[in-house]
Amino acid sequence: MSSSFQAPKGTYDILPADAPTVLAIREAFAAPLRRAGYGYIETPVFEDVKLFSRGVGESTDIVSKEMFTLTKRSDEDLAMRPEATASVLRAALQANLHRIGNLPVKLWYSGSQYRYEKPQKGRYRQFWQVGAEAIGAEDPALDAELIILADDAFRSLGLRNFRLLLNSLGDKQCRPVYRAALQDFLRGLDLDEDTVRRAEINPLRVLDDKRESVQAQLVGAPMLRDYLCEECKAYHEQVREILTAAQVPFEDDPKLVRGLDYYTRTTFEFVHDGLGSQSAVGGGGRYDGLSEMIGGPALPSVGWALGVDRTVLALEAEGIQLPTPGSSDVFAVPLGEQARTVLFGAVTELRRAGVRADFAYGGKGLKAAMKAADRSGARFALVAGERDLAEGVVQLKDLSTGDQTAVALDALVSTLKEKLK
Ligand code: AMP
Repeated sequence: MSSSFQAPKGTYDILPADAPTVLAIREAFAAPLRRAGYGYIETPVFEDVKLFSRGVGESTDIVSKEMFTLTKRSDEDLAMRPEATASVLRAALQANLHRIGNLPVKLWYSGSQYRYEKPQKGRYRQFWQVGAEAIGAEDPALDAELIILADDAFRSLGLRNFRLLLNSLGDKQCRPVYRAALQDFLRGLDLDEDTVRRAEINPLRVLDDKRESVQAQLVGAPMLRDYLCEECKAYHEQVREILTAAQVPFEDDPKLVRGLDYYTRTTFEFVHDGLGSQSAVGGGGRYDGLSEMIGGPALPSVGWALGVDRTVLALEAEGIQLPTPGSSDVFAVPLGEQARTVLFGAVTELRRAGVRADFAYGGKGLKAAMKAADRSGARFALVAGERDLAEGVVQLKDLSTGDQTAVALDALVSTLKEKLK
């Protein structure tokens, strides 16, 4: 009988059969960042709720609907992090990283995020991201660097059916002018109450509305690209040129906006064509105003977060199987008490020498123990009974060919290391 408990709605367990893929994805995302000088950071999974309501922007869906808040025990209100950018920036400011070292401060993280969303395939209440933030520099090459690293990461996994969408959201000079023009336009449309409200608080989000009925009305809407100031235009052109020089294909998407209010200028999303409605596998952009919004100095910054869960689905959609090594190379099968002691010692010695070794626990008979050895995926079984021990040997059985040879116990480690090379 299974337990009467289930993983909470919108969450799931990563089981050993799937874990190698998840770990390989995280590593594939992290490797390019390490090579580019990003330092690893961990922050708490919960923070003062105001960090998110200020930082992320009160009008966003994340804050108004999707935040997991924690019951307070003091006068402090806490929330599970819906994303990591505000936390990472908070941590960098708190530790004065922007004063101590070079700018930009380059950081990367790997961790779970929490959003109270309506669960569906590819959309969970707890999900995993690997992310990067480059804090304290305004330089189109830095925006391009991050995009190139994300593109490299996806490609290193063998993924091909993804596209990079690119846009500029303008800055504090040109964006308000555009915002007002868009609002004017939206006021003339036939929209439901929720959307009307959104149009007042965060009109750019309306552009992102996936509904046909809304999209049809947006034909002819003013486009941000026609409102960009000269500086923003030149900046964006440089980002595009650097990406082109690095042979990173992208599509200009004038309707691409981000869920969060604090994004400025460069904004981008990686979408995968095999994922249905939850197609974004990663995204990010520049957030020049966030530091000041949370009480820090002006630190123009750029970052991204790539979704681990959806990348698992993207690999499935492309039929890509990452190599998943079995859990052990050697599986020991003792026949009798004395052999148990000796083989357990041998397993310990093998492990200390760096060989992946496991043992038939639970006093199994020969047949059951050999079955366990097969199931473990090990290449070799190590079998020994009293006669073998009397001769100072163990039987090494190659589980794929069935060949069996006697190996002197004191030469076991060196023999196996040689064979497993
Ligand atoms: P965001 O922080 O919303 O820009 O998301 C960055 C990436 O995280 C997205 O492109 C997705 O791959 C992933 N992501 C966001 N929300 C979820 C979710 N609820 N479930 C699974 N993955 C998500």
